[in-house]
This record gives sequence, structure tokens and C-alpha cells, in this order.
Amino acid sequence: MIQDFLALTLEQQIPEQCEGKSNGFAWKWLAHGALLLEPLEQSANRSQESQDHIAISAGVHGNETAPIELLDSILCDLNSGALTLNVRLLLLLGNPQAMQTGERYQQIDMNRLFSGQHTQYDDCYETQRAAQLESITHAFFATFTTGYKWHLDLHTAIRGSHHERFAVLPFQESAIFSRHLFDWLESADVEAAVLNQAPSGTFSYFSSHHCGANSCTLELGEAKPFGQNDLTQFTHIDLALRNLIEKGVQDSSTATDSHILVYQVTQQLTKLSEDFALNFPDSVKNFTAFEQGEVLATDGDTTYKVEHPKEWVLFPNANVRPGLRAGLMLVRTEVELG
Ligand SMILES: [Zn+2]
Repeated sequence: MIQDFLALTLEQQIPEQCEGKSNGFAWKWLAHGALLLEPLEQSANRSQESQDHIAISAGVHGNETAPIELLDSILCDLNSGALTLNVRLLLLLGNPQAMQTGERYQQIDMNRLFSGQHTQYDDCYETQRAAQLESITHAFFATFTTGYKWHLDLHTAIRGSHHERFAVLPFQESAIFSRHLFDWLESADVEAAVLNQAPSGTFSYFSSHHCGANSCTLELGEAKPFGQNDLTQFTHIDLALRNLIEKGVQDSSTATDSHILVYQVTQQLTKLSEDFALNFPDSVKNFTAFEQGEVLATDGDTTYKVEHPKEWVLFPNANVRPGLRAGLMLVRTEVELG
């Protein structure tokens, strides 16, 4: 079953066998695209109390295939014994229906539906799937009280970026972020981190705020259809994920000099009406800089301008429903690690 996990998920087939044992671990199929792997006690390098709990998700946007292929190859190597599992691992393929059709989503962008936001919309596949992922993820992290709890939500961007790999960290009231997570991001060759300044409907905010995990959304390059990805672009993240699975949090995130540039959100470009228009071409890359006073967008009587000496744009997209985010503006900042 494990070697067919991706194929079964794409076909939305229930496997004949839903649990079993493989090389040193027990596995359990929890739902379509949801697989739990736990080291068998006799073969684990650590006691159960010190084991880490790592959730890795991909395909929350169905057309972001490269991270899905990465997880598939990691699973394959765990199954063959080429890779050793030393953490509790939850693998999630977020949106199987959209993955099947090669679309970002079917009705609603699922990464806006977590933390109960799914109740705000008419019932559809994505609202149901977000609720299901919430309950699977919550149960995974609630089972144990010891060990590090991490959730990495893997994405690829729909546009080019001046930072090829970057992390978006969900809002934290304490404003103190995990040093281990930043060290691990450095090892994955992540170039920038964006600190969100408010709660949101993302999967990583849900796992961070409601499940007590250290979470981030990782943007890893550009999206391509299945089989057309140049996986060599993803070597660093692949190695970093394998390290994490094999060694756990503490030994896979050894301190190095941090080169990660840190940004925080300073303003949101909200689409208020159908009159909303960005004042720059659609082809503008993520992390393009704008100077103070420049007009970013207009929307009827509202004009969005750069307020700080310099601001960088992230995820500009005028093609959203009124009331939703059409882009974020960032400023550089420092991060407090603990
Ligand atoms: Zn995405």
C-alpha cells in the first residue's frame, strides 16, 4: 500500500489493507491522502517519550506537484529501508480532488479555510476536506505531551520570486519563534522568512495556534504539472526533510550562522470591489521592492501606497473575490528566537 499511496490518493481508492508494518515502523492509512507512520519501539533510537511529532503536508493546492513527488519518494525510501524513521510522522496530501485535475482548488482556496473558516462558506469538497484535515492533525498532535511538534506545509508559488525558497510563519502572540525551526530552515537553504502579523485561515496557522506545533508554510519554487518537475531544484529541502525524519528536531537543526532574511507584513492590499486594480504588471515577482509613495493599487476611492521607505510585495493577485487579500506588503525586520 505504501508504495501506492500517491496513486491511491489520486484515484481516491480505499486501500485493501489499511495498516501494517514495514521497515522498523507501523503505518496506518487514516483517510484519503493521510498516512500515519510510527517507529516500532524495539527499533527506535529514542524512547517514545522523547520522540518528535512531525506533520508534513503537500498538495493543499492541488497543482503544486513537486512537494507531493518529494513526499512520495521519501515514503518509498522509508518503505525500502533506505531511510530510517525515528519520529512519529504524519504525511498529508491536502487536496486529492484538485491534485487529480491539476488545479489549485475546485471551489475555494483551501488554505483560507482552516481554523473553522470552512464554516463560513457553503458546504463543498474543500470545506469538508479542511475540516477533516483539522481533525486528523489535531488528533496527531494531541496524542503525546512530550517531544517537539512541527508542521511543515509544502507549497510551490504560482509566480517567480526574488527568493526562490521562503517560509511564511504564522502569527504568534509571543512574537518569539523557534530557534530550531530557523536552524532547520537554514539547512534547507531557505532564503527568507515572512512573519505574519495576524491570525489567518492557513493550515500552518491552524496547527500552530490550535495544536501547539511549530509550523510554517514553505514556498519552494515554481509549480509544474506532475512528472515535469526538475527535482534537482529541491535537493536541499529533500535532504533537510530526510534528516528531520531520521534524526529528529534537535539533531537535524544544528546551529549555523543564519543568512535568512526576515520580513514582516506591514499592510494588506484588500480587494474591496471589482474596481480593484494593481498598479504594476501581473508578471511582477514576489519580493519586488517599491519605494515610499509609489501607488500599489487603486480600488474606487481607495489608493494603496508604499508607506515605509521601502516595501516588498508578496502574493499579488487581483483575481480574487472582493473582500479577500489581493497582496501583502512587507518590511525588513529582525526575529526573536527562543
Ligand atoms: Zn500553495
